[in-house]
Amino acid sequence: MSATSVPPVFSEIFEYLEAYNVLVCKVHGYGIRSPAIQSHLNSFHKDLDPKTRGTVAKYARGLYTDSVQYPSNLIDPIPYMPLYRECFKCVYPLPPANNPCNAVYRKQVNVQDHLKAVHDWVNPRKRGGDFHVPAEGPWVSGVLIQKFFVSGSDQRFFEVNSVELQPDPADSSDDSVNVQTMLDQFQSSVQQVKEQIRSARVVVRDWAGTIP
Ligand SMILES: [Zn+2]
Ligand SMILES: [Zn+2]
Repeated sequence: MSATSVPPVFSEIFEYLEAYNVLVCKVHGYGIRSPAIQSHLNSFHKDLDPKTRGTVAKYARGLYTDSVQYPSNLIDPIPYMPLYRECFKCVYPLPPANNPCNAVYRKQVNVQDHLKAVHDWVNPRKRGGDFHVPAEGPWVSGVLIQKFFVSGSDQRFFEVNSVELQPDPADSSDDSVNVQTMLDQFQSSVQQVKEQIRSARVVVRDWAGTIP
């Protein structure tokens, strides 16, 4: 094996996301920082012998650095990592162009804390308000988010497309074909059942015919 070839076990366990400079463990479903690759293998992939762990870690460290590039626009969900649904996005207008902030959080209380800390936002319902009624403010709900890392200080979330709700228009023609195929199959199974009933009647008639 040359120094540059990919250790076979590497591709079974990891996927390197070049666009974000992140290595994702497909087995555990989260990103591994470059300095932590050896300890991740030692702690969570003990089924590999120490020599293989060393080879994989060495290869991985040569592949990526510890500087993550977060997605700058809305991307499709990244496979292998959990999707968090019904999350919250800050849309506080930022100067000078009043573009929305777009920071995302799992809970409404998190986006409210962010608004207070970063944008000096004041919750209008804080005094004398009904705390059972969800407060309204400069955020949107129902956002789908993911995060690369599950430990350490950098657990920043980013928003991803809701793929289930936005079918690719290119698939619609295929769908109509599928519907036609399903109809055809349905018709032929109806035909089959009819034939079974018909032959069953013949059998019944034959059997009935033997009764004296
Ligand atoms: Zn792992
Ligand atoms: Zn914000």
